[in-house]
Amino acid sequence: MAGNTTLTIIKPDAFGAGKAGKIVALLEEKGFTIKAARVMQLTKAQAGEFYAIHRERPFYAELVQFMTSGPCMPMVLEKASAVSALRDAIGATDPAEAAAGTVRKLYAESKGRNAIHASDSDENAQREARFFFAETELLWG
Ligand code: GDP
Repeated sequence: MAGNTTLTIIKPDAFGAGKAGKIVALLEEKGFTIKAARVMQLTKAQAGEFYAIHRERPFYAELVQFMTSGPCMPMVLEKASAVSALRDAIGATDPAEAAAGTVRKLYAESKGRNAIHASDSDENAQREARFFFAETELLWG
């Protein structure tokens, strides 16, 4: 059975542009509940570890640079089938290909600076939630 929590990050482009409130409102309107949230600026080591799966990709250095360029807002969100529901809500990686009404269609600048992260599997959702939030902060699961 699919899990009911997932991990999102409002990325530095959207956070820095003052879009965090609008994005949170959109996600709440779509039925997500916030179970944990914080505002932080990732270190190079943290961003590198979080995106380690992309280490061999040509955009890795640019991705780490972007994700450390300013504050971001990680959150654990709850909803039935949370991972697939949030992937639907954020839209395609490239905003040019994102469906109308999705977070990336509304707020992303480009394929790299694309406003928001969302876990791509239940396993990664759990791992990524633990990456940002301590055991003592768990309001979910
Ligand atoms: P996601 O799951 O939709 O976020 O996409 P991926 O897992 O494929 O990529 C992770 C993140 O790497 C994306 O959200 C982008 O921020 C970045 N990224 C992916 N492809 C590119 C690219 O071609 N160029 C750049 N600069 N960044 C990219």
